[in-house]
Amino acid sequence: MQPHKPLRLTIDLSAIQANWRWLDKMSGTAACGAAVKANAYGLGAERVVPALLEAGCRDFFVTTYAEAQPLLPLIGGDASLCILHGVSREDAAYAADFPARPVLNSPEQVRRWKEIAPDRPCDVMVDTGMNRLGLTPEEAVSGLLDGLRIETLHSHLASADEDVPQNERQLTVFRAAANKVNARRYSLANSAGICLGPDYHFNLTRPGLALYGGIPRREAEGYVRSVFTVEAQVVQRRKVKAGDTIGYNATFTAPHDMEVAILNLGYADGYSRRFSNNGHARIMGELLPVAGTVSMDLTTILVDRATDPYENNWVEIDLNLLRASMQSGLSQYELLTTLGKRYTQCTQQDRC
Ligand SMILES: *Cc1c(COP(=O)(O)O)cnc(C)c1O
Repeated sequence: MQPHKPLRLTIDLSAIQANWRWLDKMSGTAACGAAVKANAYGLGAERVVPALLEAGCRDFFVTTYAEAQPLLPLIGGDASLCILHGVSREDAAYAADFPARPVLNSPEQVRRWKEIAPDRPCDVMVDTGMNRLGLTPEEAVSGLLDGLRIETLHSHLASADEDVPQNERQLTVFRAAANKVNARRYSLANSAGICLGPDYHFNLTRPGLALYGGIPRREAEGYVRSVFTVEAQVVQRRKVKAGDTIGYNATFTAPHDMEVAILNLGYADGYSRRFSNNGHARIMGELLPVAGTVSMDLTTILVDRATDPYENNWVEIDLNLLRASMQSGLSQYELLTTLGKRYTQCTQQDRC
């Protein structure tokens, strides 16, 4: 028998599949992959990967070999795993016969791969202006890559979620590199990059955020479906008198006698302190405001009607990514990836 967890995270695998299909259609003739790094942005890579395989996705991206290891048994046939951070010195022994492709980011990584697996395919990242990971365009055409079996040449856009000249500058630099580096495929676009249009698609796209219900740009609004819900149980319902304060540092003072419900959810569950006096729970379409400071494990909401939740009732937390991002000042990426480990994990398909 398992002890009860008063907090649950439900993901809708068919919504993730629908989002992938939309991104695949938007990618035109390019294949559409999936970034499943950071445990599929916090939603559970071991559930998300099989669903995406079923939808038709064949190219999966994680950061490290440690993230790749548990996913490998799920990925067979013509699908592949790519390691975005490439192959470090400590990875060398493990990587030599681990069937994934590293994305080689530096001259050191290129030399290392030539030493440990000269005949196996790899990917290469070229930096086109973000100054994060990748070879410089000069390094990429210097002869350094001669002899490698390059499956995909990648670059990554720094500001695809904005309409800024940097997008076109990066596109121009990538096109020039792609003309000179021999690879089977070329790939530039993340979720926002897909929305920038066919010039950015090349042969393969690498969405993450939009798969998980994030809205990378206006173009995705109304098409990308939300994929997860967070529900917390009420630990206690109590009465508060006019003039009483609620929670740490007394940041909320009751304007009149009222009732509150204390939810089993806090910043350790990814419900940021920025939702203090700012976030909402939702019950039967009504929004119930958070009162006072969000604590590590508890959050207080105002419950003034008889129909509002009582002890042991489950309450949905309003975490619409776009709205919650504006409310909290946190990015949609942070809202997803900080969800934490204390949830009972459920799927819409297999409710708990
Ligand atoms: C994380 C990542 C992606 C996915 O980006 P989203 O903005 O989440 O779509 C694509 N490519 C690279 C190199 C990444 O690191």
